[in-house]
This record gives sequence, C-alpha cells and structure tokens, in this order.
Amino acid sequence: MATIKKKALVIGAGTGGYPCAIRLAQLGVDTMIVEKAEPGGVCLNWGCIPSKALISATKLFHKAQHSESMGVSFKGAAVDMKQMQAWKSGIVKKLTGGVKGLIKGNGATYVKATASFVGPKSVRLKYADGKPDDIVEAEHIVIATGSLPIEIPGFKIDQKRIVDSTGALELDSVPKRMLCIGGGIIGLELGQTFQRVGTKLVVLEGLGRILNGVDEECAKVVAKQIKKDGGEIHTGARATGWEERDGAIVVKADVGGETKEFETDIVLVAVGRWPITAGLNIEKSGVKLGERGFIPVDNRKQTNVPGIYAVGDVVGQPMLAHKASHEGEVVAEVIAGKKTVDDARCIPNIVFTEPEIASVGMTAEEAKAAGHEVSIGKMPFAVSGRAMAIDETNGFVKVITDAKDARVLGIHIVGPEASDLISEGALAIEMGAFAEDISLTVHPHPTLGEALMEAAKHSIGEAVHLMNPRKKSAH
Ligand code: NAD
Repeated sequence: MATIKKKALVIGAGTGGYPCAIRLAQLGVDTMIVEKAEPGGVCLNWGCIPSKALISATKLFHKAQHSESMGVSFKGAAVDMKQMQAWKSGIVKKLTGGVKGLIKGNGATYVKATASFVGPKSVRLKYADGKPDDIVEAEHIVIATGSLPIEIPGFKIDQKRIVDSTGALELDSVPKRMLCIGGGIIGLELGQTFQRVGTKLVVLEGLGRILNGVDEECAKVVAKQIKKDGGEIHTGARATGWEERDGAIVVKADVGGETKEFETDIVLVAVGRWPITAGLNIEKSGVKLGERGFIPVDNRKQTNVPGIYAVGDVVGQPMLAHKASHEGEVVAEVIAGKKTVDDARCIPNIVFTEPEIASVGMTAEEAKAAGHEVSIGKMPFAVSGRAMAIDETNGFVKVITDAKDARVLGIHIVGPEASDLISEGALAIEMGAFAEDISLTVHPHPTLGEALMEAAKHSIGEAVHLMNPRKKSAH
C-alpha cells in the first residue's frame, strides 16, 4: 500500500467531477481524479448523450413517416435498432475517450479505482484488478459521485423486462408495448423515443399531471402529442406490482382508488434518482448528510467539513449535467484560491420530448407567488414562417415579465429546437434583461429565434405578427 500526496482529489469523473479536475489542473493545482466506472459518468455513458442520440434517430424516422404533406415520402423507411445502438455507442466512446484525454492533457492524474474515506483528508483507493490499495492524502477533496435511479417495491430491475433508464437505452429491438412508471423527464423522453418507432406507450404518473414542476401549458402540448401518437397517460396512477400472464407482463396499479391492470412487454421505472454516498465511508470524513441523503453545501460548494466539497446530483436538485459542471468549475476556482461563489441566477431546464420543452426562470405561478404582477407574452410557432417551412408548428414561446417594469422573469418554450433556443433566455435572465432588451435585438429572419423576440414584444403590447392584448381604456 502506497501513500500518495495530492493538493486536490476529485471523487467521480462525471459531468461534475471531470470539469472540476480539468479546471484545477489548468489553475496549476496538483490534482488526481478517481473514477470506478467510465469517464463522463451517467451523462456521457448512460444518460444525456446516448438518450439524445436515440432521440434524434427516432425523430428522424418519425418525421420521415409524416413528411408526405411536404411532398417527400420515404417509402420503405425502416429502423435497425442494432445499428442505431452501434452508432450511439460510437458517439459515447468518442466522448468518453475525449474526456480522459482532456483530463490527462491538462495535467491531472486519472485513476480507475473505488474511493472511500479513511479520514477527512485521506481516501483509500481500491483497484478492480486486485492491485494493493493506495491511500491518497489531499488538502482538498471534492465529492462528485452523482445519483442512481430509485427502485420501487414490486419492480426489481432486471434490465430485461423491468428496466431503468440504463436498460432502456440498451434495448436492441423495438418493444411492441412499453409501460413507463413515472411521467417525469426520463419516462417521457425514453417513452416517446420508442413510441416514435412503433411502441405502444402507456404512462402511469402518481401525481395529477405529467412533468410536475414544468410550465403546465408546455407539458399539455407534450401530453397531447403522446396521445396523438397512440399513447395513453394515466395520472393519479401508482403501480403496485406485476405478474406474468401468457408471456406478457400485467402491471397492477391504483388509479384514483381503483385497481386497474395494464398489459405490456416491458416496464420502464423512472420515478426519480437518489444521491450516491453509499460505499464512500462518508462517516469517516465527518461530512453530514441532509434530507434524503443529499450533501448540504454552501455557495462555494463546501460541506460542513472545511476542505471537503460536493457538486452535482449528490448535492440535490436540479439534477442536471450543466448544473454539475458549473458547480465543479466553481469549486476548482475556490480551491485555487479565487474568490468565486456559485451565484448563477438560473439553471436552464430542458425536456427532450416531442416537442421539446425548455425553461429558464420562474413560471407565471411562481412569479405571482413571489409577489410579482405578471405580464405574459406568447408567440405560437403556428404563425412562424420558419416553423411552417420545417413543418414543425406545434408549440409556442412564452415570456413572463414583471408588469411594472417589463423585467424578464421567466421564459418557457415548447416546440422545435426549444433546447437550443433557450440559451438566449438564460442570458436574458442572467443579465437581468427587460423585455425590450430582447425585443429590440434584431433577430435574423427567417428563424425560430424570432419567436422569442416576438413573444417579448407581445409581453409589452408591441408584437407585429400577433394581435396584442387590448389596452385598458383610459376612460
Ligand atoms: P422525475 O422526478 O423527473 O419524474 C419522476 C416522476 O415519477 C414524478 O413525476 C413522480 O411523481 C413519479 N412517480 C414517483 N413514484 C411513482 C410511482 N410509484 N408511480 C407512478 N409515478 C411515480 O424523475 P426521472 O424522470 O426519473 O428523472 C430523474 C432525474 O434525472 C431528474 O431529476 C432529472 O432532472 C434528471 N434528468 C434530466 C434530463 C434532462 O435534463 N433532459 C433527462 C433525464 C433525466
């Protein structure tokens, strides 16, 4: 057993840990990053990237099935799930290899091992190949261990018939029927992925609506699309167990107090995620866990133990890769002695459904609850020339401003390329922009981005491609 001394040790090379290690090395800090699985974590290997690859491929197929009105037909278009999986895996391999290269290229040490605390400044590294353990003594330790899918009683994950997101992303054939437990982000993104290539989709959501927390009007557009494509959504529905009957899976659920049965071929369990601290021997570090096992941190991402930091999913919601990366970079600067704090005004939230939903800032309900009198500007894609030209007119851009001074409080987009359009909204909120800052910025024509400009104009009664709300009479 050797003792290795480092200035900083990062545990976990996901989207929180690897940017942290890269920034630390760039800032001249002697850094080691330890990862037990693959570089890139859930996002690159089993989450954001593979799901977006499958989503884009199945969207292409779906569009090909619905392009006859454009004068284009793809007779004989077919899906080869094995090839789609191979293509997806190629992307993952390229990206994870790139991450490893960047860590090493910037001068940090990458180690494949399982880390566990032996004290507040020391960590044991256990190697899978049986090599003797090492101890790393580090002045600063960053916990970036991420999260795991929550399992529910009665639905033990076997990654064949009862799958979580990891299993769903590995399916190499299109199931005839899929039942998603949980109408949240993962359930709908992956449910629609397979629905687009012919799977009959059923969603069971325990709450009264899908995509809880997302602007309700945006969520309704996605619900309508799922139904239009032949799917079912049952709200107030809690799955209680399943049995096999004639080769099929029969899921039992309590739907509004009534027991109902749903026949399916595969069950996707997507009911949220837990923080990963098990196996870390966290008690040896002195770090206290908070509610539901998340690690409480301050605005410099430091835990209750000086010199120990935590970033990403393990510190709590929102469990998003870009939030984790931002936090990782903040911590790197803190460790390097800079006076950095995490003062992000907003974290954009994207749901890669059909159509996509993207949001920043407050919903109208949240803004009202925070004491604002709100003004809402809305531009439907149905009147956008560009949206018509790409034959994707479903959805809208909604800009929420403070009625008193037109300060932008929130932007919610449901529609084509919402995921790319929202960055302008994030900049607006980060800069404390007013509706005029967006409406007076000349947007290129013909683009989907004009919808954001028009919605901003609409919020202050200056839209030219839409009727504005009638001004209250002065008399
Ligand atoms: P989620 O919290 O988005 O949705 C889970 C849903 O399951 C909730 O609506 C909940 O009410 C429901 N539910 C819980 N128990 C249930 C039960 N027994 N029966 C029926 N419904 C039940 O969680 P998720 O979809 O698993 O995603 C996990 C995390 O991953 C999220 O925090 C999300 O931020 C992140 N994620 C983000 C993206 C993205 O940014 N595009 C994509 C995938 C995942």
